Amino acid sequence: MNNSSYIGRFAPTPSGHLHFGSLVAALASWLDARALGGRWLLRMEDLDPPREVPGAQAGILQTLERYGLHWDGEIVRQSERHAAYLQVVERLQQQGLAYACICSRKQLEGQGGVYPGTCRDARHASEDAAIRLRVPQLEYRFVDRVQGEFSQHLGRDVGDFVIRRRDGLFAYQLAVVLDDAWQGVTDIVRGADLLDSTPRQLYLQELLGLPQPRYLHVPLIIQPDGHKLGKSYRSPPLAAGQASPLLLRALRALGQSTPDAAEGAAPEELLAWAARHWDAGRIPRCRTLAEAQLR
Ligand code: GLU
Repeated sequence: MNNSSYIGRFAPTPSGHLHFGSLVAALASWLDARALGGRWLLRMEDLDPPREVPGAQAGILQTLERYGLHWDGEIVRQSERHAAYLQVVERLQQQGLAYACICSRKQLEGQGGVYPGTCRDARHASEDAAIRLRVPQLEYRFVDRVQGEFSQHLGRDVGDFVIRRRDGLFAYQLAVVLDDAWQGVTDIVRGADLLDSTPRQLYLQELLGLPQPRYLHVPLIIQPDGHKLGKSYRSPPLAAGQASPLLLRALRALGQSTPDAAEGAAPEELLAWAARHWDAGRIPRCRTLAEAQLR
């Protein structure tokens, strides 16, 4: 099938190198795009310089290339998109949809992560303040291609959330929505750790009049002991010489079939085969998948 209107993307954060879990997400996104004749874009989510690991950007690009996950067009870097983010933050503030918040981290302790709305009507100046988006007392729901129906009550479960931090850095939730729309992304395929960010993103899309992409959240790969495959915790960067075996392992994690006698195949060959046989319906319908289950 050729569906040239499909636009997918991979959007890594350079706070560490790619690990096996990121490979699973990148592979799923690449295969879904290629199987449908779509484009696959790459966006570097370098919004947070203090958390960036030196060399991670170059390492991520090199790994994707070595693993045969080639992208289309120019790489977009969020560090070059600040003017676009700022314009939207200012507009939302002018419309009264966002407000300045001067609560300290200490003041917010013990709230279970849900902002109690302290500064909502305080009319603080924006200088040296975080900017929060007012959320409605409404439930947002969508149907994920793998996880099925997902809903979240924004007022009760999330609260007014930060779109620009007090230190001036822009928040992921805002940048991701603006960039996906700006790049014309139709299909978001990513890890299930972002499932509960999606309702916030749906709300932003609605507020800003942006189209809603389709979503597919793949299980988050965790360690046999239940720990997350953190970017630092026991998760070495993907080895350059291990591309084909790790791609095969990632395909199995995604419930996909693998070619016979695949061990000696080059990454590009494996990927071409896998794109021809891609069946998103076979992805395990769970939020996490322990690595031990894969062997
Ligand atoms: N940059 C995010 C991450 O590396 C992914 C964002 C997304 O796919 O929406 O976790």
